[in-house]
Amino acid sequence: MSQQHYRPTFIKVNLQAIQNNIKRLKETLPTHTGVIAVVKANGYGHGDVAVAQAALKAGSKILAVATPEEALHLREAGIQADILLLGTTPLSFLEEASKQNITLTAYSYEWLIATRDIQGPLKLHIKIDSGMGRIGFMDETELKMALAFIRQSEGLQITGVFTHFATADEEDQTLFQQQVSKFEKLLNVFEQRPAIVHTSNSAAALIYPDQHWNAVRFGISMYGIAPSPWINGELPFSLEKALSLHTEVAHVKKVLKGSTIGYGATYVAPTDEWIATIPIGYADGLLRKLHNQSVLINGKKMPIVGRICMDQTMIRLDEKVEIGEKVVLIGKQETEEILIEEWAEALQTIPYEVCCTFSNRVPRIYSK
Ligand SMILES: *Cc1c(COP(=O)(O)O)cnc(C)c1O
Repeated sequence: MSQQHYRPTFIKVNLQAIQNNIKRLKETLPTHTGVIAVVKANGYGHGDVAVAQAALKAGSKILAVATPEEALHLREAGIQADILLLGTTPLSFLEEASKQNITLTAYSYEWLIATRDIQGPLKLHIKIDSGMGRIGFMDETELKMALAFIRQSEGLQITGVFTHFATADEEDQTLFQQQVSKFEKLLNVFEQRPAIVHTSNSAAALIYPDQHWNAVRFGISMYGIAPSPWINGELPFSLEKALSLHTEVAHVKKVLKGSTIGYGATYVAPTDEWIATIPIGYADGLLRKLHNQSVLINGKKMPIVGRICMDQTMIRLDEKVEIGEKVVLIGKQETEEILIEEWAEALQTIPYEVCCTFSNRVPRIYSK
């Protein structure tokens, strides 16, 4: 812990779990296939620098981020490994990208020719839009023009080519197979195949061995989370969850039957009962829609009662507990476990989004 924390609310990140997930994935890959560790969005909320260091230790050679700021944050932390910026890059970042050895995604002819004034060297991965409909070259003509432009530009260097699947985590393979064919067709446009060809996100990396190429982009599953319920049933090895969310009971009181709890007085105690207050709320990522969730105290599930506040939340206890009693909101306590997938379901979203909604107010504590 680099900084003193007083409030006992924190996210614990098990870096060994992240390393184990990468190592187990690597065991399923051919030796020439590398793991690109995707650490965008602050390492899916786990902490970008710590996750990046763990991933490099586990044998990843390349890190991937979404924005210039994310790439620079890793460089400022002293990380020298190759970094691939997956998203669109504003032209104002080109010079800095070159200086800091950050590989950019080339995704359109228009963007590419706008790099003409850059001295370089600038490393590029060519993005093919094979059906995701987000960014990338969509047809042979535009791709040929782009490759011709790069050939006559001294500063530009193609080090990779990639695409991204829209439905790799779904059972129906129709679009997936169309994307594979389209990518392979456009790959034939290259006179010389770039050194790093990569197509797979976690889902494809886990279940489509024929999509391993030279590297796979390992995001959500590096953190121990399955990309979808379907993939969860098809995993080639078990994933270890890295993140758990903790706090402690800060206040305990007995309330009488008929007492109201929280804003709007939405909860009325049906009997005399024990209520705990915990120091975590929606400003931390315990979103108000989670008001029907439970937390773990003494190895048992205890329900949230009333509305979740910005900084505090009330819990109905089955018996009096001590102040300082440990509370687990996501993760294991004794034999019980609350999964991030349960939060995602309650929030009608996916675990990816839940990871990204934990705020900066919650310290990340790392265990090795
Ligand atoms: C975020 C992202 C990934 C990682 O996907 P996961 O499903 O988390 O493994 C891979 N590739 C691209 C282009 C991405 O934007």
